[in-house]
Amino acid sequence: MVSSTPTTEEEKKIMAAKEYKQLGCLDVDASAGCAFQVRAETEAELFQLVAMHAKHSHKIDSLPPEMAAKAKAAVKTVTVTV
Ligand SMILES: [Zn+2]
Repeated sequence: MVSSTPTTEEEKKIMAAKEYKQLGCLDVDASAGCAFQVRAETEAELFQLVAMHAKHSHKIDSLPPEMAAKAKAAVKTVTVTV
């Protein structure tokens, strides 16, 4: 794990469980039949990856507001123990 700030032993224990934002195509549009799933550390990063996928795989240049809202609502926070 890359961290620029020194942490105490206590903080390291807490940091061992890492939270990720997760979103899948099926969560937004099940009818698309796309099993793409993405995980990122921040929501901003997540939506960057989602936008890239939408562009390349679904030919969507920019997410319509309605779809973006649906995607945002579908974001799950998962905890991964490192
Ligand atoms: Zn997809």
